[in-house]
Amino acid sequence: MAGPVIRNIVIVGGGTAGWMAAAALSKVMGTQRYSITLIESDMIGTVGVGEATIPIIQLFNSVLGIDENEFVRETNATFKLGIEFRDWGRIGHRYLHPFGLMGVDAGGINFSHYWLRWVKAGGDPDNLKFSAEAQAALAGRFMRTPEAKPANLPKINYAFHFDASLYGAYLRRYAEKRGVVRTEGQVTSVAQDPQSGFITSVTLKDGREVRGDFFIDCSGFRGLLIEETLHAGYDDWSRWLPVNRAAAMPCARVEEPVPLTRSTAREAGWQWRIALQNRTGNGYVFCNDFIGEDEAATLLTQRLDGAALADPRILKFVTGQRKASWVKNCLALGLSSGFLEPLESTSIHMVQVGISKLLAMFPKNGVDPLMVARFNREMSQDYASIRDFIIAHYKVTEREDTPFWAYCKNMSVPDSLADRLELFKSRGEVFVENHELFKEVNWFAILYGQGIMPDDYHPMADVVAEDELKLRLSAIRGGIVERVRGMPTHQDFIERNCASATAPA
Ligand SMILES: Cc1cc2nc3c(=O)[nH]c(=O)nc-3n(C[C@H](O)[C@H](O)[C@H](O)COP(=O)(O)OP(=O)(O)OC[C@H]3O[C@@H](n4cnc5c(N)ncnc54)[C@H](O)[C@@H]3O)c2cc1C
Repeated sequence: MAGPVIRNIVIVGGGTAGWMAAAALSKVMGTQRYSITLIESDMIGTVGVGEATIPIIQLFNSVLGIDENEFVRETNATFKLGIEFRDWGRIGHRYLHPFGLMGVDAGGINFSHYWLRWVKAGGDPDNLKFSAEAQAALAGRFMRTPEAKPANLPKINYAFHFDASLYGAYLRRYAEKRGVVRTEGQVTSVAQDPQSGFITSVTLKDGREVRGDFFIDCSGFRGLLIEETLHAGYDDWSRWLPVNRAAAMPCARVEEPVPLTRSTAREAGWQWRIALQNRTGNGYVFCNDFIGEDEAATLLTQRLDGAALADPRILKFVTGQRKASWVKNCLALGLSSGFLEPLESTSIHMVQVGISKLLAMFPKNGVDPLMVARFNREMSQDYASIRDFIIAHYKVTEREDTPFWAYCKNMSVPDSLADRLELFKSRGEVFVENHELFKEVNWFAILYGQGIMPDDYHPMADVVAEDELKLRLSAIRGGIVERVRGMPTHQDFIERNCASATAPA
């Protein structure tokens, strides 16, 4: 495969993916040895939603050396301790998927097995009492883990809700300061080497040609380079994840921001509510086989808890993944590489994953097919494991009150997921591979949260004497109560550390 030695990198697209790539590459590789050009078109614009993240974004921030308080201030961000699910298991039911640990693992097994033993012996079935993040979120409190924390105290895991457009602008300033060249213009044609098929340049509407050795496709759903030029193909997963539209609109803030993303199941999908410092983001993610776009937009508008700040905007997508995210000298990141719907806030995370794999496998003397194959294999595994986790939310519902939920409850699921669900039902266990984003604690939160009580638990959980178990559980619970009591409210924490200039006082 080979192609030229890479010196000139061209990023096509300046949405979240494009600017994340530009920021990370300029920081890690610099712009002396490599030139980095980003092309974007204000005429086309960005998706502009994508407001909720997961804790691993802190790693991205720390690689960039970003000051977190500045970043929160400039993106109107709030803190996120997990997701609240309403009406997913059944109408009127709610549960949380908090970040971080539940209880304390011991004896080589997950804490959930000890807890299951306790519940089966008549203990309190509220698993959230063993999560500091859940208790803090429910109390509307937040604080970062103090640097001088005792060694045995787990850290508080958190992520952010932010304004996606401000995030892009923030990263743009960061990248341009480090030498990334931004080119405004619309790519209208792509040139390829006639022998190898490698991309050699893109041409803009005004005739300018931008040449490059390596192209990063961040052009969004269309996949201008990876699909329209290189025909990578797309695995359509909508038989398992049927939602294919979102109506999105902001509304005025009506209360202090909660440190949770709220997801409420609706007749043909679900609705997000994300509180930022200055406004609330809302969206109805739905399947147009079950509800029309106009009706979904109207229902979303009626269900806002504050005054609408814009008209609803309809976004269309097909859940799935590009068959190959890296083809020849083109690598796709963000929506051009795949989209699994926003239920668990994993898209920005997958951009981060793609960037870190690219950096780890960056070609030295031209493109190495072994690296390309490895990259594509790893991305596929990551996408597929997140896919299964998201499908599980729909599949284990008890709801059949609308055609959409009846479809979800009765659909067949990938074998990989079917096996997991069976094992969880029989002994409360989920085996995860090292590379998987969602671990046993996350699966437990969702499956138990949604109403599955496993028949049994791991035999090792019986090894601890009953009194000892009781003592351990009440110590964990007590520690969490104390810890949360010592936290300021989420709003207080923001005001003291990172209030944005546009947030209401
Ligand atoms: C409804 C919805 C909700 C979401 N919520 C979340 C969430 O909560 N959390 C999360 O992590 N992710 C979420 N996402 C995903 C997230 O928005 C995207 O992963 C992220 O914004 C990356 O988008 P992108 O940069 O790949 O694409 P885009 O934002 O579409 O950017 C594409 C860029 O390519 C440029 N471009 C396109 N064609 C051309 C051309 N011909 N010439 C020049 N430039 C061109 C555009 O101008 C733009 O700059 C959500 C997505 C949707 C649809």
